[in-house]
Amino acid sequence: MHDDRTLVESRLKRVLDERIRPAVYPESVPLEVGIWTAPGEPVPVAEGLAAPRTPIAVGDAWGAPWGTSWITVTGTVPEAWAGRTVEALIDLGFDANMPGFQCEGLVYRPDGTPVKGLNPQNQWVRIASPAAGGEQVLLHVEAAANPVILDYHPFLPTELGDKETAGDRPQYKLARMDLAVFDETVWQLVLDLEVLGELMAELPVEGARRWELLRAIERALDAVDLQDVNGTSARARSELAGVLAAPAVPSAHRISAIGHAHIDSAWLWPLRETVRKVARTTANMTALLEDEPDFLYTMSQAQQFAWIKEHRPEVYARVRKAVAEGRFVPAGGMWVESDTNMPSSEAMARQFVHGKRFFLDEFGVENHEAWLPDTFGFTGGLPQIIRNAGSKWLLTQKISWSQVNRFPHHTFLWEGIDGTRIFTHFPPVDTYNCSMKGSEIAHAARNFKDKGVARHSLAPTGWGDGGGGTTREMVAKAARMKDLEGSATVRWEKPAEFFAKAEAEYPDPPVWVGELYLELHRATLTSQAKTKQGNRRSENLLREAELWCTTATLRTGAAYPYEQLDRIWKTVLLHQFHDILPGSSIAWVHREAEATYAALAGELEELIGAAQRALAGDAAGGRELVFNGAPHPRSAVPAGGAAPAAANGAPCTAVERPGGGYTLHNGLLEVAVDADGLIASVVEVASGRETVAPGSRANLLQLHPDFPNMWDAWDVDQFYRNTVTDLTGVDSLTATTGAEQASVRIARSFGSSTVVQTLTLRAGEQRVDIDTEVDWHETEKFLKAAFPLDVHTDRYAAETQFGHLYRPTHTNTSWDAAKFEACNHRFVHLDEPGWGVALVTASTYGHDVTRTVRDTDGGTTTTVRFSLLRAPRFPDPKTDQGVHRFRHALVPGAAIGDAVREGYRIGLPERRVTGSAERVAPLVELDHDALVVSAVKLADDRSGDLIVRVYEAGGGRVRGRLTTSFALADAVPCDLLERPWDGTRGEVTVEDGAVRLALRPFELVTLRLRAAG
Ligand SMILES: [Zn+2]
Repeated sequence: MHDDRTLVESRLKRVLDERIRPAVYPESVPLEVGIWTAPGEPVPVAEGLAAPRTPIAVGDAWGAPWGTSWITVTGTVPEAWAGRTVEALIDLGFDANMPGFQCEGLVYRPDGTPVKGLNPQNQWVRIASPAAGGEQVLLHVEAAANPVILDYHPFLPTELGDKETAGDRPQYKLARMDLAVFDETVWQLVLDLEVLGELMAELPVEGARRWELLRAIERALDAVDLQDVNGTSARARSELAGVLAAPAVPSAHRISAIGHAHIDSAWLWPLRETVRKVARTTANMTALLEDEPDFLYTMSQAQQFAWIKEHRPEVYARVRKAVAEGRFVPAGGMWVESDTNMPSSEAMARQFVHGKRFFLDEFGVENHEAWLPDTFGFTGGLPQIIRNAGSKWLLTQKISWSQVNRFPHHTFLWEGIDGTRIFTHFPPVDTYNCSMKGSEIAHAARNFKDKGVARHSLAPTGWGDGGGGTTREMVAKAARMKDLEGSATVRWEKPAEFFAKAEAEYPDPPVWVGELYLELHRATLTSQAKTKQGNRRSENLLREAELWCTTATLRTGAAYPYEQLDRIWKTVLLHQFHDILPGSSIAWVHREAEATYAALAGELEELIGAAQRALAGDAAGGRELVFNGAPHPRSAVPAGGAAPAAANGAPCTAVERPGGGYTLHNGLLEVAVDADGLIASVVEVASGRETVAPGSRANLLQLHPDFPNMWDAWDVDQFYRNTVTDLTGVDSLTATTGAEQASVRIARSFGSSTVVQTLTLRAGEQRVDIDTEVDWHETEKFLKAAFPLDVHTDRYAAETQFGHLYRPTHTNTSWDAAKFEACNHRFVHLDEPGWGVALVTASTYGHDVTRTVRDTDGGTTTTVRFSLLRAPRFPDPKTDQGVHRFRHALVPGAAIGDAVREGYRIGLPERRVTGSAERVAPLVELDHDALVVSAVKLADDRSGDLIVRVYEAGGGRVRGRLTTSFALADAVPCDLLERPWDGTRGEVTVEDGAVRLALRPFELVTLRLRAAG
């Protein structure tokens, strides 16, 4: 037979585009349109409904950036349409290629009940089926003129990302505003042809099925009268019925589809807009659930449910009903889909506590999957946290974005630093916005790496970010692929149903040990430094506030601020969302975040101050007490308690060096700062060991050009290292000494920026503190602080949640080389047997570690560099401009335990309070340094029980005792939600009024302690 394949394929495309799709709406009449534009921020629904309208016509411009317009459409269904299906078509000026990144609308009836969202791929509103004829139509649309930030030429700097700079030029033109007849048969024919045409394109040309589809499509096209598509579409459909009925082969891949909209809680829009994006999408989805009996929808992020509950109760009522029916499925059990690299141990735990508790309280449901499709990498600490939250599965597709290495599995066991294993699935469809295109379904089946032993994968289906979620067209396509020869099968299934099947069919999956590092978006560990500092400061202050408020409540009867702490925690958790904490949002989001963090710090400082004053007693007593909120004692002040300040060891000196510079000495360390203000030498006095590698100098600031190929705020590309400027010029160099400390102050200028650094030795502390103040006015540059160390090692430790993980210092494999920028929490540690160094940081996360071998002596130089600042121009064109302050420290001679201790101390400075008490005994004490208290708080159930979370921080096996300052009745191991839990693997026994603990490496345990009597 002659090969006419491309001829028929081209015919299908043209006839669909030009004749059949337009015939879905064969008749229409224009609607009358009126508009009112809110003068500033969005107004309440009642106000928008009541505001007076002025006429506006199709083609007219509307919508200053970030503005809200209330648009009213009115019309009459023509009598001739009686008995037919009538829809309103409302095109606000959409670009169909940009679902989610554009203007959007939410349709209301005159009484204020929401109908559905309007989005680029979802512009219809059903009026009646069948219509009566003569019916009056009156609808209101709350239309948001969200500007396009990520345009066809992506990543260009734009001022549109903040309403303060966005201007007022209208962004959109009203397009189609019609009442129209909807011809369902033609619509079904479109979907038949799309499904079969898209499937056909994926099938092998050598296979018979492809040709069967081609011939059926040709017969269908022959059956369509192009001058009467509406009259002949049924005939065309009947030509396709046979090929649509052919069942899938038994070995077909099985896709569990779940309706979804990945809505970033803030990103290219501010938080307040996300509230409305969620309302529009959920209004759409609850409407679709009513129309489509097989369809299921899942929504993650308890925060987003809480927003609709607070701001759109009428939408929330529909969500509640659909959840109760089991068709709207809360997913993920976290407060938001957070970043997981940077949140602290406690914050990562609380993401699950608050997420799961919200779903339990509101809906009585507990889900068991962590749902993080879009998060930029996953720490080795996360599996234990997931397990301790009572969950057991993880879903993400983001690792498919890795630049270099392809991950070997789609379904596997992921093992964390403590040995916890979590059943994990990466959807092979490689997107969280599946739209049921044939190419996506075929890609999922082909791409799935576990074929032969497993058969199921999951496909989150729908437009995210305000694109409106799943469409009726996606549902219709899924129905056709339920059991279709040549295709993977598609069923709507809940995430839990998918995971149960996947786990059952794959009892012995492969194992991946350690972090799931994303080989992309590495700069998110550095961009928007103030957002990151706000997060770290809040985490530290929350620790202190819980500790001191709990102590004050149990000792003095002060009221415990349950509601306030709950609200502050949720605010901090929200800002850990995977585009806020990573610094990848527009300027507006980061400007607001900075103000929010400042307000939270004010509240928390007040809580801490009040609790400490209550514990210290009457200030007239005149005794100065030092409060220690860190988990280890310091200068005779116990951890979690207060005591008088003690003298701190030998005095500190600063002596001028011949040739310039100074030598600092405190009896423990001798630090030589040269004439360039760089650290030439740091000797540990006790061992005589030099820290700085021969021939190099530490605390060297280095400036790189930094213009990645894409994703400016997110990415740093490896070539940034090819060019570097060492900042060695000195404007001034001075030293100061006091009884307790000796310092050298170094001022430099470079480009348009200045930097002042202060290096300080303190009495009794084996640590060099480095305070850096940068007035940063660079463009597309990367600032690093380098510490070349004389340490020979092939790996180093970086702190993560509830422990640390190791990464190589070399680049043997492509997997090692790809980790050229990585995350630490408070420390990086490296050592040779018997001697090590820690580098500690108060608020930076990004770093790199490299090695060189010296020609001079054959020794190895291991260089640790902290990442301080970047200056990308998208999406915030002024990212990080202005003054920043950082604190780092170099700790020579540090074992891993010293690194842990100094890491806590740098963020939890001692606090001095004057009162009458002689001391404040800690509520709990532990007798082993590796047993670290992560949280002391009152139980969330308000029983008055004390909750203490402890983990093993050294990576070893530890036995120890927890003693209490009150008579202990019992200690119950709990999960993170403070429910009794038998999943704790360590030993917890109460003996002689104390708790005996035996923990494995990095094991965490949550204890509920009850006082006797
Ligand atoms: Zn996202």
